[in-house]
Amino acid sequence: MSDEGPAQPILVWSEALRDYDFGPGHPLTPRRFGPGLDLIRAVGAERLVEPEAATDKALARVHEPHYIEQVRSFSDHPWQPTAMGVGTGDVPAFHGMHEVSALVAGGSTGAVERILAGEAEHAFSPAGGLHHAMRTRAAGFCVYNDVALAVAAARDAGHRVLYLDLDVHHGDGTQVLFWEDPQVLTFSVHESGHDLYPGTGMIDETGGGAAPGLAVNAPLDRGSGDESWWAVVELMLPVLADMFKPTFIVSQHGCDTHSLDPLAHLRLTTASYQRACGLVDRLAHEHAGGRWLATGGGGYDAYRVVPRSWALIWLAQAHREAPGEMPAAWRERWSEEAEAFGQAPLPVDLIDPPRTVAPDPDVIVSRNLKRARQSLMQSLELQASC
Ligand SMILES: [Zn+2]
Ligand SMILES: [Zn+2]
Repeated sequence: MSDEGPAQPILVWSEALRDYDFGPGHPLTPRRFGPGLDLIRAVGAERLVEPEAATDKALARVHEPHYIEQVRSFSDHPWQPTAMGVGTGDVPAFHGMHEVSALVAGGSTGAVERILAGEAEHAFSPAGGLHHAMRTRAAGFCVYNDVALAVAAARDAGHRVLYLDLDVHHGDGTQVLFWEDPQVLTFSVHESGHDLYPGTGMIDETGGGAAPGLAVNAPLDRGSGDESWWAVVELMLPVLADMFKPTFIVSQHGCDTHSLDPLAHLRLTTASYQRACGLVDRLAHEHAGGRWLATGGGGYDAYRVVPRSWALIWLAQAHREAPGEMPAAWRERWSEEAEAFGQAPLPVDLIDPPRTVAPDPDVIVSRNLKRARQSLMQSLELQASC
C-alpha cells in the first residue's frame, strides 16, 4: 500500500462483455453498459481490469461438463430445439454465447483471485450477478452462474464465504449450488416468490446436509419501499455475519428493486443502495479483512437506475463520498438515448430524495419484519444446533 492509502477497488470491464446480448427486445440489454460504465468513470474509477474467460475446468466448479458442452453447441449453432434452459424466451441462444458467458464468469472469478493475491481489498464486476443459472440449466437470463463460481473460488482457497443477494428476484441458483456447503452462507433479500419469478426463497428454505441454517431468505411483500427493506437488511445482515464469521464476502446488487424498474414491485430508491453498500463495506472490513467482491445483477431501467446503482457500489468500495448531483456532462451525453427508450428524463440526483416513493399503503411493514425475525431466529438456531 502506498502513502496515498489503499489502492482503488478493481473494476472488471472489457468491451467484449457487451456481447452478452439476447437481442433487441430482451430486458437484459447491453445498452446499460454505455451509461453505466460512463458514470462509474465520471465518479472516479480508473483501475479497470480486463477479464479472462473462465476455462471449462473452472466452469466445472459449479456446472456439469455436459451442460457446458450443450451451451457450446448452441453457441456454434443457435437454431436448435430448446435444451437445458437454453433457446427459451428468457435465455435465447445466440452465436458466441458460450464465449461471452465464460468471460462474464471469468470476470468475477478473476476478481476473486486478485483479491486473494492481495492486489485489492474490493472489486466490482458489473456484468456479473447471473444468479439464476443452475448446475445443468440456464434460467432467468443467466447462462453460467458467475457469482456461484466466485463463491466457489474463494471457498476452494479455504475461505468461509458470505453470499449476499440483493436482487429483487430470489438468488435461487446460488442457494441451490451451496445448499449443503458448510463453508458458504447464502442470504437473499427479495420480493416474495408468491408474486414473482422464480417463485422460491421462502423462509422455510434453510439449507441441508452439513449446512443447516446456512441458506437464509427474506421474502418481502410487493410495494415494500425503502424503510421496510432497509429495516430487514439492517436487522439480519450484521447478525448473520456475526454468527457465521465470513472471511470473504460476495454480493449481488441487482437494482430491479427500484421503483422505476419495469419487471418488479419493491419500490426502492437509490438511497437504499447507498446504505446497503456502506453496510457491506463495513462488514467486509470487520469480518473478512476487507475481502469483498460485488457484482451487478438484474436492473431493467438502463438509464435512470442501473448507472446510479453501479456508481454507488463503486463509491462505497472506494470509500468516497457520493457527489450530490449527477455529472452534467453525463446527463447531456445520455439524455437523448434515454428518451428514445422511454427512460427520460434522467435523474438530477445520484441519491433519490427521501420519500419520492410512498410505500404501498396496503403493505404492513411489520409483516416483513416479523418474517425476517422468524427467518433469522431459525437460521441461528439451526446453526447453533450443529
Ligand atoms: Zn472498504
Ligand atoms: Zn432480478
